Amino acid sequence: MSQNTRKYLIAGNWKMNNTPSEGAELVREINLALGQETSVGVVVCPPFTALEACAGELSGSNVQLGAQNMYPKSEGAYTGEVSPVMLRALFCTFVILGHSERREYFAESDSFINEKVLAAIESNLKPILCVGERLEEREAGTTMEVIKKQLDGGLAGVTAEMAESLIIAYEPVWAIGTGKTATPEMAQEVHAAIRADLATKFGETASKIRILYGGSMKPANASELLDQPDIDGGLIGGASLQSKPFVELVKIASNK
Ligand code: PEP
Repeated sequence: MSQNTRKYLIAGNWKMNNTPSEGAELVREINLALGQETSVGVVVCPPFTALEACAGELSGSNVQLGAQNMYPKSEGAYTGEVSPVMLRALFCTFVILGHSERREYFAESDSFINEKVLAAIESNLKPILCVGERLEEREAGTTMEVIKKQLDGGLAGVTAEMAESLIIAYEPVWAIGTGKTATPEMAQEVHAAIRADLATKFGETASKIRILYGGSMKPANASELLDQPDIDGGLIGGASLQSKPFVELVKIASNK
């Protein structure tokens, strides 16, 4: 259990990896190892096309399912998009929103991400809102300015009550998939500033919101990161693609 009774959350972001059968196999292994784990929240976020196969493996499990994106409308003429209602029908309970790869490759703006956050909460999906600075922004000393803008934009119109289902992931862009991790102290500094900002927005509720760290988190560096008072878990990319390191990360969190 992390500080202030926030339950750790370890979420795997598979990105564009795994067919339905590969995903089902991976989730089967994770479920065998962790299906009854209750001290830590565990979520896997496969691509849309593998959600149904993974959901089939997870019925009755404590491992939960999330999506990596969604469109902020329930239905309609939005070719190629997937709605929150569709995700709920596939037993998703979480959705990653505003990942830096979507901001960068698909030009997602804070206001579009905000529409998604509001639509996700409306549909009872827990948004994992990703924020984080690029290397040049860190070097220019504007990290918190950048993150505050992402939080202000992404969370516009979210009330304290709605924020109960919110999760934030701090992912320094320069640490994603690069093998470079923020030091625990660097990450804690930003997590504390994020929580302070959430407190100005949501008051007391800020102490209940989990703030995950993401960016080359793996078993070798997770323990020190998770020891930080405002780091409540991890959003895991590369190390979530095989059951062994992912399961190990959950076990590290559960032994805290
Ligand atoms: C991510 O993309 O959310 C992520 C944290 O990736 P990685 O763990 O591979 O850095």
